[in-house]
Amino acid sequence: MPDLPDGVERRDVGSETGLATQGPPAYGEPTDGAGWRHWNPRRSKLGAMLETGMDTGLAGGETVLYLGAAAGTTVSHVADFAGPTYAVEFAPRPVRDLLGVAEDRDRLFPLLKDARKPETYAHVVEPVDVVVQDVATRGQAEVALANREFLHDDGRLLMAVKARSEDVTADPEAVFDEVVETLSEGYEVLERERLEPYHADHLGVVARPRR
Ligand code: SAM
Repeated sequence: MPDLPDGVERRDVGSETGLATQGPPAYGEPTDGAGWRHWNPRRSKLGAMLETGMDTGLAGGETVLYLGAAAGTTVSHVADFAGPTYAVEFAPRPVRDLLGVAEDRDRLFPLLKDARKPETYAHVVEPVDVVVQDVATRGQAEVALANREFLHDDGRLLMAVKARSEDVTADPEAVFDEVVETLSEGYEVLERERLEPYHADHLGVVARPRR
């Protein structure tokens, strides 16, 4: 099992045992008196990738571009252990909650932007060590390819692929093969792993930019 990033520990928090990060509470998650917050892999694809033992390469302290931040459940944990974390979300409603999550976190920068249009945030986002993607929308590989420009040469893409977002009727494994093939136009895929039992018909992907 790869090491967890610095700042992520396996702990008993409240009545839960599992991954935890230390930071201000964000979404009603179990917390303890020392500021640890339970990180539930059933509510987080990145949490599930860590829990299933995928080698994310995360060490802690990285600069992160997070695509598909929603209301900030996962990205709140990422900002606890990472460095500057840019959180892109295009739906105004969850961004309202995301702004609240960012209020207590000076390393978290919410951006109300469309991840298919990286040119609209290229002036704000610095080159990053890690792109985390969980957009659950059609064209997931294309979103990752469009944002490859932000990644350092030795950076990592940590991506969750939702099969049903691409095609509700197709066999998920066939969808995953197709997404990974498209992704290969710009990335070398290092690892792929189904995220069951935490997320049905989702694939976790670890990749690095192709030189
Ligand atoms: N990553 C979140 C978490 O773990 O807390 C959950 C993300 S949810 C599965 C997918 C999110 O991606 C939705 O909030 C959706 O609005 C957003 N999304 C989908 N397409 C997007 C796009 N092109 N640009 C930005 N956000 C997008």
